[in-house]
Amino acid sequence: MPTYVYRCRDCGHEFEKVQRMSDNPLTQCPKCKGKIGRVPCAVGITFKGSGFHVNDYPSSKSATAAPAKKEETKAGTAATSAS
Ligand SMILES: [Zn+2]
Repeated sequence: MPTYVYRCRDCGHEFEKVQRMSDNPLTQCPKCKGKIGRVPCAVGITFKGSGFHVNDYPSSKSATAAPAKKEETKAGTAATSAS
């Protein structure tokens, strides 16, 4: 059975799910109940659209890196404007 990678559009939560081809794709984030999308052929695909970028194993790396970066930027901006 193929392993599919899902990514939440709301919280950025990323996880793998082993499914049959005939199974319906998941649509709800197990964390925040937000909308998730299936990431096709996870290996070697970049999620940020910044050219050619190879992730060794995108499951854990980008799951923690991408959302954290987002929040960091947000927090930084808020802190800057607050002070
Ligand atoms: Zn989510």
